[in-house]
Parts: sequence; C-alpha cells; structure tokens
Amino acid sequence: MVEEQLRGRDIVDERVLAAMERVPRELFVPEGERHRAYADAALPIGHGQTISQPYMVARIAEALGLSGGEKVLDVGTGSGYQAAVLAELADEVHTIERIPELAEQARKNFAAAGYDRVQVHLGDGSLGLPEEAPFGAIAVAAAAPGLPELLYEQLEPRGRLAVPVGGRWGQRLEVIVRSPEGPAVVHSVPCRFVPLVGEQGFRK
Ligand code: SAM
Repeated sequence: MVEEQLRGRDIVDERVLAAMERVPRELFVPEGERHRAYADAALPIGHGQTISQPYMVARIAEALGLSGGEKVLDVGTGSGYQAAVLAELADEVHTIERIPELAEQARKNFAAAGYDRVQVHLGDGSLGLPEEAPFGAIAVAAAAPGLPELLYEQLEPRGRLAVPVGGRWGQRLEVIVRSPEGPAVVHSVPCRFVPLVGEQGFRK
C-alpha cells in the first residue's frame, strides 16, 4: 500500500509514510472487508459510510504539515483510521462522529489497535469542538457545501484546515491556513467524500 499507492503517487513526507505503515488498517474495517483492507479504495463500514481510501488519508495528513506537538481535531470519525494516523503525527487527537454506532465501533477499533489516547466525541462536528479549541490542525473527512466558518475560527493562528468543499457528488479537498488576512487556500485537489451532515454542512 505504502509503496504503490502512496510513494508511487505523490506522497513524499516520510513521517506520513511511516505513520501509514504503522497503523494496522485491517483493525479499522469490518471483518467481512478485511481481505481488502489494503486495497486502493474506500470501503463500506455500515450506516451508509466508508473508511476513506488510504491515499486520501495520507493526502490529508501530509497537507496538514504536522510536526508532532499539535492538538488536532478529526471531524467524521467513521472507522477511526484517519484519527489513528493523525495520532501517529500529533500530540493530542480529538475525533467527532454524528452516528453513535460508528463512534462506539471506533472506540473498540482504537482499543484493539492501541490508540486509546484518541478522544472520541459524539455530535455535530460541522460545529467543531469549541470546548477543546483552539486546534493546530483540523481534518474533515466529509464534504461541506462551503468553508465551515466555525471550524476555521477554532484554528490557532497559522493552523491548517483540510476540508472537501463542493457539491454532494464531487468536491475539491481544500487546505486552508488561518492568517491575519483571513483564510488562505494553500492546496486544492479534486476528491469525492460522503456529505458532512449538520448545521454547517448539508441538511440531510
Ligand atoms: N475518516 C474516516 C475513516 O478513516 O474511517 C472516514 C469517514 S467517512 C468518509 C465520513 C464520516 O463523517 C462518516 O462516518 C459520517 O457519519 C461522518 N459525519 C458526517 N457528517 C458529520 C458531522 N456533522 N459530524 C460528525 N461526523 C459526521
């Protein structure tokens, strides 16, 4: 996976590549999908949701430019895989999911894979997690119709937000830096994510 799907494309950050090598992806997919845990694809995790494609997880992790000491928010826990990768790269990781059964399964996945220090929250992550803000970085794994301003406001100065922005069926993964002049887009690539359902996302 790392050699062909990540290094073989354009992932170059050695810390991210090492993190992707360390996290056991098979422990984050349902048992019936384990034979394809390392496939170059998103996979179903139930409730109409998916564990993101490995390349997208690496892309987001690389774009956040983490150096190790950050407090990070992961919006859209899903299986917990992205949060586990972020936990390899940052000091403190909070992750928020709106579907209770997925949050519960993610807790089990973290325990099985040894990432108990990732803190799982249940709620509408489109509003961020104000009680834990500010964050050095925020990763959103679901598509928003526009820049979720409340998430941007929960960034530290120079903090980075990675969020798919666009319509339901196609978006651009935008990486935005908080700067004194306002949001600065530093990276933008096409992508396709499930919708962010919430107050700062899609309504259903
Ligand atoms: N990063 C996840 C992983 O590695 O498994 C993949 C996440 S999946 C593509 C997107 C997730 O975002 C789904 O689990 C969905 O329920 C969740 N989601 C959608 N809208 C949300 C919201 N407003 N707050 C929290 N989670 C949300």
